[in-house]
Amino acid sequence: MEKRLLTKEAHNWLKCMIATYTTRDVIAQLAELGFNTFYTDIRKDMLAQHGILETTTCSSCSDPSQQCRLCSEIGNRIWKYHRFKRTHLKGPSWINTDMTKWCSDSWELAKCYMPPTGYKDKPSADKTDFNGIIGALFNCIWMQNYFTNDL
Ligand SMILES: [Zn+2]
Repeated sequence: MEKRLLTKEAHNWLKCMIATYTTRDVIAQLAELGFNTFYTDIRKDMLAQHGILETTTCSSCSDPSQQCRLCSEIGNRIWKYHRFKRTHLKGPSWINTDMTKWCSDSWELAKCYMPPTGYKDKPSADKTDFNGIIGALFNCIWMQNYFTNDL
């Protein structure tokens, strides 16, 4: 083994790496649960506000300019809960998401809150890195429901 890896500094870096992986695993579970619940919550809201039944689903809309009412309302809520929707910076990363899966895979909602590069092909929380998961939890203000501290 290389001598540098035997130093106390190297051991501390290793501990940091293990802590980061452990944290990632825990927040990945939180994000998976959180975005499932987020989807359920926005469907309840759509039922209450527009009478769109929770059993109604769509898997055919892929063009944001030609969405059905259901997909349009989901998109509106994704936008509404984005932390930076009103700044010139960003808003949802629409390029990341496959909107034909919005009703069947809540991770496609989560991906709207991640950085716009590097996450389009991430199919689940388990396959997403620390940065993507933190971005999703922080940029989606609905996730404040899971935190005592003000994000
Ligand atoms: Zn649709």
